[in-house]
Amino acid sequence: MTMKRGIILTLVGAVLIAGVLAFVFQRSIGERVFATAAAQRLAQNDLEFGPGLHLVLCGTGSPLPNLDRAGPCNLVVAGDQSFVVDIGEGGARNLNLMGYDIASTDGLLLTHYHSDHVDGIGPLALLYWTTGTATEPLAAYGPQGIEQLVEGFNAAYALDHTYRVAHHGAEIVPESGGGLRAVPFDIGEEPVVVLDRDGLTITAFPVEHDPIEPAIGYRFDYQGRSVVISGDTSRSSSLEVASRGADILVHDALQPNLVGILTEALEETGAQNTAQITRDILDYHATPEDAAASAQAAKVRHLVLSHLVPPIPSSFFYPAFLGDAEAEFDGEITVGEDGMIFSLPPDSKAIGRRNAL
Ligand SMILES: [Zn+2]
Ligand SMILES: [Zn+2]
Repeated sequence: MTMKRGIILTLVGAVLIAGVLAFVFQRSIGERVFATAAAQRLAQNDLEFGPGLHLVLCGTGSPLPNLDRAGPCNLVVAGDQSFVVDIGEGGARNLNLMGYDIASTDGLLLTHYHSDHVDGIGPLALLYWTTGTATEPLAAYGPQGIEQLVEGFNAAYALDHTYRVAHHGAEIVPESGGGLRAVPFDIGEEPVVVLDRDGLTITAFPVEHDPIEPAIGYRFDYQGRSVVISGDTSRSSSLEVASRGADILVHDALQPNLVGILTEALEETGAQNTAQITRDILDYHATPEDAAASAQAAKVRHLVLSHLVPPIPSSFFYPAFLGDAEAEFDGEITVGEDGMIFSLPPDSKAIGRRNAL
């Protein structure tokens, strides 16, 4: 008994001493661990892509808050060119955490000007400017309306730009590099080639997001591989034409059954305004079944659902979110998650996958 008591007392004493030591040395231990972690993190700050076409999901959420999903954001990499398609809140943070060099971006492509697709512009443009010592603002490609958006954004951030130049100096942050520059193009009923450079073709096409006009999607073709990003749309015949034979179709998706449950819950708590909004959004987003039917009609190889509405707390709910989608499409369907990377090697049918978050 005495011996057992002695062992217990010794153990308690050891724990107490360890606790006191950890408390006393917490600052220096913290500094050392932080230094090691920071060095490791910066060494990883180089997201690698092989040859071919690559799709990075940097945001798969929607305006409804979701801890695991940033707002709409995609990155498409083709050789040494890369473009961000839409930049919702948290998108630039995800790109940064994945180790992507934002300064290497060739441009931002916007599908339309709903706030959830542009409210991450601030951090993206700031990191492009400051980490890359950019002498020209980030190029922002978009259909009718892009000049107004760029002008307003630049006005809102004009004071910030003066502060940073004053503080860090023009050698670090050249005055001419802050903000955005508009690269406008007009689109009507027909697709428009937005860029054709070094084997990469980017084509914009109209989609159905009434009353938002214009609302577009983008198709990327490079080295015999293709990725289509729908933007926000209900089932769209022009998307089905533009997506024909694509390797990957990223499609927005709203599950009406789950949104209906959400609407009822909102009504019960007296949140009538939000309940009305959840009823309004039903008619201008595709359901997972619509997206799957479009993927089937266009004969695409892989369907990735993104811009998920409502927020999905975990993969447990994926079958409820998908509904009958899998019955509509012969190919594979992936419920998009932030950090997913799909790689399409040149002139191949392979689709490589990894997650960088
Ligand atoms: Zn949206
Ligand atoms: Zn929208």
